[in-house]
Amino acid sequence: MVSRKTSPRVAGSALDVLLSGGAGGADRTDRADRLTHVERLAARPGVTTDWPDWTPPSVREAFAARGIPQPWRHQAVAAEHAYAGRHVVLATGTASGKSLGFQVPGLARILGARRPNGRPGATVLYLSPTKALAQDQLTSLAGLDLPRLAACTHDGDSPREQRDWARDHAEWLLTNPDMLHHSLLPGHARWARFLSQLELVVVDECHHYRGVFGAHVALVLRRLRRLCAHYGSSPTFVLASATVADPAVSAGRLTGLTVEAVVEDASARGEVALGLWEPPFASYAGENGAPVRRSATAEVADLLADLVAGGVRTLAFVRSRRGAETVALTAGRLLDEAVPGLSRQVAAYRGGYLPEDRRDLEDALRSGALLGVAATNALELGIDVAGLDAVLMAGFPGTRAAMWQQVGRAGRRGADAVAVLVARDDPLDTYLVTHPEALVGAPVESTVFDPGNPHVVGPHLCCAAAELPLREQDLSLFGPSASDGVAALAEAGLLRRRAAGWYWTDRTRPTDLADLRSTGGRPVDLVENGTGRVVGTVDASSSHSTVHRGAVYLHQGETFLVRDLDLDDRVAMIERDDPGYSTSAREVTDIAVLEEMMSAGREEGWPRGRLAFGSVRVTHQVVSFLKRRVPSGEVLAEEPLDLPERTLETRAVWWTLSSASIEATGLAAVDLPGAAHAAEHASIGLLPLFATCDRWDIGGVSTALHPDTGMLTVFVYDGHAGGAGFAEHGFHAARAWLTATRETIAACACESGCPSCVQSPKCGNGNHPLDKAGAVRLLDVLLI
Ligand SMILES: [Zn+2]
Ligand SMILES: [Zn+2]
Repeated sequence: MVSRKTSPRVAGSALDVLLSGGAGGADRTDRADRLTHVERLAARPGVTTDWPDWTPPSVREAFAARGIPQPWRHQAVAAEHAYAGRHVVLATGTASGKSLGFQVPGLARILGARRPNGRPGATVLYLSPTKALAQDQLTSLAGLDLPRLAACTHDGDSPREQRDWARDHAEWLLTNPDMLHHSLLPGHARWARFLSQLELVVVDECHHYRGVFGAHVALVLRRLRRLCAHYGSSPTFVLASATVADPAVSAGRLTGLTVEAVVEDASARGEVALGLWEPPFASYAGENGAPVRRSATAEVADLLADLVAGGVRTLAFVRSRRGAETVALTAGRLLDEAVPGLSRQVAAYRGGYLPEDRRDLEDALRSGALLGVAATNALELGIDVAGLDAVLMAGFPGTRAAMWQQVGRAGRRGADAVAVLVARDDPLDTYLVTHPEALVGAPVESTVFDPGNPHVVGPHLCCAAAELPLREQDLSLFGPSASDGVAALAEAGLLRRRAAGWYWTDRTRPTDLADLRSTGGRPVDLVENGTGRVVGTVDASSSHSTVHRGAVYLHQGETFLVRDLDLDDRVAMIERDDPGYSTSAREVTDIAVLEEMMSAGREEGWPRGRLAFGSVRVTHQVVSFLKRRVPSGEVLAEEPLDLPERTLETRAVWWTLSSASIEATGLAAVDLPGAAHAAEHASIGLLPLFATCDRWDIGGVSTALHPDTGMLTVFVYDGHAGGAGFAEHGFHAARAWLTATRETIAACACESGCPSCVQSPKCGNGNHPLDKAGAVRLLDVLLI
């Protein structure tokens, strides 16, 4: 229930609004119980400095006209590095004005190099992870109103005339790594003018380049550097990042260059109270009768309604687009119940990324016409709103870096604000809201990716060879695995060696070999029976378990039954039908150790167990599926499936306990599989706290006796061919990671396992067997 406050609240009491929300005293106390922690982030006065001497007067005036008489110190420091030709990464908070740090040196270079006839003499290449962000940057540059600045975007939607114009005239080109990979680099001859004049490469929001995507982008940038050298230019790289650990290291890995880091944020900020919020247990509807908590979206919808009713300008971040719409609708309904018509002050941001839509929404939020907006996390990048009174987060957004980006939207100068992280029902969120030290004051995670992944390097060597013959001396640019890679490609007949180097000889386009935003192969189309309409797509990697014959598939809120899955044509035939049950696939997974590359035992501080990292082969097969009655979850039937095995060669981290150590746990042989399985699930849930991955990026296998180790073994592997660096990170952070895993399981209030501790939403075994207490005992002995 929403109670309309009589006077508009000031932001400082937004937290009171949340705690007093709802009707009646009983509910109030309950609300306070859900708030597990409040951290006050102090206000910070800003530090400005003079413009660098070389700043052109027109650029100074342009910024002054925009209300920026002087830069913050970090902006000026980064600009100085870039102008002097030192590669630099600017890693500061949201709304700290990172753009100015590269706009000023870029514009100075361009204006300083213009020929007397007005022709460009210097160019800047701006790369962003999304088209929308490149559009925003273009708007920001155009808004400076500098005479004759030739800036334009280059993306999949650019008309032909614009592309031709860009090649001949562009001084500032805004694009993305995908376009660089598919269009600009393969067609470099036509971009010779632009590349030969290239002085600055801006890599914006570079913390988004992580995992396999990060490895791909690292190689695209190496191809760019090689072509620039060919055309006689040697651009300076300026990277902008959210606050991450070791930004210089990850920026260096991304570009292959030595990069300076500027991390001290000198922008002004108001005080923000960060609240951590744990929804209560709501029912016993989980798998195997487990208790489940109230969903984070339901809780956030309530909080959003209360804040809006209290006159507090609020942005709620929700994981999915559908979730964002549900939050806005529910909050609107609650508001209308209190005061009819009040729902008009709440809206969902509905994808699409049209810049006009976003502008309207941002303006409405700024002017106060809208008080509450529910947006997807994807909007974290694109929205230009800061200085809000409150930010709500429905679930941890995946990384501390992303969380601080979102929290950074709250806090007007001179006014206090609140940000609330509402936990979802999973081990990571549960751990975080009960361990504030893991969020506040803890260093943010590093951006993890491995540009040496041979599965990624190979395709880019082919692309590079197609762009310009690949010479012996080029190989070091592509990392230590490049020599072997070239030899293997030559043997496979894809590259041919001639006097000038290796050539791409195949008739296909090599760029098709590299799937930058790797989705594990071509997705499967969902086609509606009868109409032939393509309703959507499913990632190749998850198709066997989600759209097998007989699967009940939910798509944008509608229920479909899968009639057939044709793996050759990559089509699943579906029809709208709600049979009253849900389905869950059962999967068997085997793992074989191919090579142990690192290990740690007694000597390294693991007296009772052993830890290892190496390459593995994972074999999956979906063998059957269960039909469960909705909503009771009662199993109605199990039906066999005939799907092929799939294998994945990747990297894994694993730990083992010898039989002597197992004796020390006091567990009986019959309890071991459940104990190891529970420890595996929780450790998968917690790894994202240490490596920038999602729990869906990794998988696990546990067994009481593994043939390759001869012991009880728990594996956690990277879900991408060749590995993505997550398991390796887990090996190095094993003690902290597994300690947090143990803590999460031990601290969970449930009796014998729930989604907040040891149950996993992606278990191929129906979360059976699981032994919560046994997992703690295994980890206790391992962590001695
Ligand atoms: Zn639990
Ligand atoms: Zn499992």
